[in-house]
Amino acid sequence: MQALTDKIKVLERKPMTIGERLYLPAIIKGMLITFSHLFKKRPTISYPEQKRYFPSVWRGVQILNRDEEGRERCTACGLCAVACPAEAITMEGAERMPGEEHLYKEEKYAAKYEINMLRCIFCGLCEEACPKDAIYLSQTFAPANYHRKGFIYDKQDLLIPHPIEEPDRYKQALGERATALKQKAKTSEEESMDN
Ligand code: SF4
Ligand code: SF4
Repeated sequence: MQALTDKIKVLERKPMTIGERLYLPAIIKGMLITFSHLFKKRPTISYPEQKRYFPSVWRGVQILNRDEEGRERCTACGLCAVACPAEAITMEGAERMPGEEHLYKEEKYAAKYEINMLRCIFCGLCEEACPKDAIYLSQTFAPANYHRKGFIYDKQDLLIPHPIEEPDRYKQALGERATALKQKAKTSEEESMDN
């Protein structure tokens, strides 16, 4: 058969030495490498029992935010979907009915809100585009899933826990954002006192 290239380099195979034929030195060398790793700091963690903490600038899974009374902030204005370069966000708006004031902050809300995590590139433009502080990128990541459908996150997957009904889970979901919000509130309080 004709060779595909003329750059063939024929390598000379040296015969094995007695030590190589015994395999013992190679086995001992391999075992020493294995044992040396027992005393090194492991780069892996026992997920999900242990969680890795990400820096505050980390852009992870989106969270749909509530106000301090637990009302949904999103008004289904669609600005996040327009800003999204990956076209990962879809939503359906609905009008707030009398008696639903404790559920939704404004007269319009997102009856359906979905983000396709397989499309999302975690750029954070949805957070920047939102005029209502209704969406932000958290310090967590989308867990693995066996099915494509499992990566379509709906409103219930994205909504932050209720701050009054589930305060611990709410604080946990806020992460370092809680400290930033406290600092922001303190600064605005100081500013209002100065004026
Ligand atoms: S982070 Fe970027 S890609 Fe992901 S949903 Fe928001 S705007 Fe779209
Ligand atoms: S998350 Fe913000 S930008 Fe997106 S629809 Fe809701 S209010 Fe509008």
